Amino acid sequence: MTEQTALFDTLLANIGDAVLVADGDRRLLRVNRAVEAVTGYRADDLLTGTGHAEEARGQLRRAMAPAADDISGDGLWSGPVRCADGTERQMEVRVAAVKGAGSQPLHYLGLLRPVGAGMPAEPAAERRFGVDALTGLPDRNIFTDRVEQGVLQITRTGGSLALLMMGLDRFTLVNDALGHSAGDQLLVEVARRLRKCIRETDTVVRLDGDKFALVMAIAGMDDSVIVAEKVLSAIREPFRIGGDEVVITFSIGIALYPQDAQSGGGLIKQSENALHYAKVSGRNQYRFFSRDMNVKARARLDLETRLRRALANSEFVVYYQPKVRAQDNTIVGAEALVRWCDPERGMISPGEFIPVAEETGLIEQIGAWVLSDTCAQNKAWQNEGIAPVRISVNVSARQFRNRVFVDSVSRILEDTGLDPAWLELEITESMLMHDVEAVVRKMTALRELGLGLSIDDFGTGYSSLSYLGRFPITTLKIDRAFIADVDTNPKTAEIARAIIGLSKGLNLEVVAEGCEVAEHVLFLQDHGCQTVQGFYYSRPVPAEDFRRMLIGRVLDRAPAPVA
Ligand code: C2E
Ligand code: MG
Ligand code: MG
Repeated sequence: MTEQTALFDTLLANIGDAVLVADGDRRLLRVNRAVEAVTGYRADDLLTGTGHAEEARGQLRRAMAPAADDISGDGLWSGPVRCADGTERQMEVRVAAVKGAGSQPLHYLGLLRPVGAGMPAEPAAERRFGVDALTGLPDRNIFTDRVEQGVLQITRTGGSLALLMMGLDRFTLVNDALGHSAGDQLLVEVARRLRKCIRETDTVVRLDGDKFALVMAIAGMDDSVIVAEKVLSAIREPFRIGGDEVVITFSIGIALYPQDAQSGGGLIKQSENALHYAKVSGRNQYRFFSRDMNVKARARLDLETRLRRALANSEFVVYYQPKVRAQDNTIVGAEALVRWCDPERGMISPGEFIPVAEETGLIEQIGAWVLSDTCAQNKAWQNEGIAPVRISVNVSARQFRNRVFVDSVSRILEDTGLDPAWLELEITESMLMHDVEAVVRKMTALRELGLGLSIDDFGTGYSSLSYLGRFPITTLKIDRAFIADVDTNPKTAEIARAIIGLSKGLNLEVVAEGCEVAEHVLFLQDHGCQTVQGFYYSRPVPAEDFRRMLIGRVLDRAPAPVA
């Protein structure tokens, strides 16, 4: 018996005909791969009615009963079958009853065949294995393999694998309204946009019909959020198909390995579940398989929405933290530090929102606003007759990379009328590491405007010190990690001394951040670092408070509040 079963299985798998097997009640039990090819659905989906195969499943079941009252059970059915790409195709099913001892058939066998125009082309000889003929993307045959490979790789290297299962929302409507060839064009265009959203190391495949998948190794859950958002907004842009403008959306289900599944197969299943969840939650969105992830993603999305509103409602303010010459407690400058006055949650520190602003690109606008507000404020103080100081402004990596960055700085200086000598930009070590030539060119252009450039959080990056001489910088800011225990930890003290020595050697100014207690200041003074910034002198304060400090100019060394 088992031998026969095996024989039957092999036959079913290898026969070119599309075979349907139903039970005595004509419920579908099995379909072979040829059926998958003809309808575009996966066998599992056809049998269970999942993955949008519900309609096709009903149609095929009816097809198995061409003449239910014909006791012989044999017959020929023909009618439309809804395929996975949303089209209805004319098909024929030749049904044969399989009888056991009794007169009632135990099983039915059906041979499914597309008829007439609109049938899917027979696999042409030149069709390449593993490539979707319509879009040129890898197809389902490659997909499982890529997922398995990804799982293996992650198991070796660590990290996570994200599987994004993506379906077009209401694709059938496009097909019905504009016809199949418009539908095909749309799919080709969708594939093109998807390709643009991914890195070279990611794989995007067309599974069937309106379903695509993306396999990518990620460092953190945020990476998959970023890509999912990118995909959603890329697809949301109207398509031009023939003379028509078509607007269509995507639903995306995300599952992560090893968080959500133990195997490639499990990962695929969970991403399907997540996709289903995305569809029933209203489409045009992404959903994670895990609830935790959804909560985090929602919080992130909320933050993004509130940030946009904050920009529109001018909820940002700039605080100023003095830089002080330690030997006589005189203010010699300040750092501008952005704050967000959220009407709901109060004052929010940049650590909480800068990373999201950076990822979403909002940092460009926030950064430009901080820069222009600070320059205008500094100019206003000078206009009042207060002796000028140089104020530094932090620049994020994304801002700095922007091609128009130098122009926008130059325009802000012009608009506010601030002499560039009173402006310094703080960038971090990590921004120096890629494409050194381009970075040097950009920094030189900024220096030519007449402003200062400092390296913030110095010592935390991994740049080689010998490198530093290549960049046209004016100042090093020692990261506060090296100040915190500079008076008690000989190793830290050694690093701080080395950085001070280095800046002297390179003829740079040096500023120590995070000086909280008198011991820090004393150590730094002893080792030749005169300019300090930190809670010991003052926390970052609102503009009006800083203005008063500026007028007084010399600070009492009042005991600093504890952080
Ligand atoms: P940062 O540029 O290194 O700024 C110094 C941070 O150290 C500030 O935190 C400041 O309040 C804090 N600080 C100063 N003195 C002390 C001290 O004695 N002890 C301790 N524990 N901390 C001290 P803040 O204002 O929360 O800013 C955090 C980071 O956010 C900044 O680090 C900077 O990287 C970023 N940031 C702030 N404003 C902007 C901005 O306008 N644009 C951009 N791109 N980033 C900004
Ligand atoms: Mg800074
Ligand atoms: Mg810093």
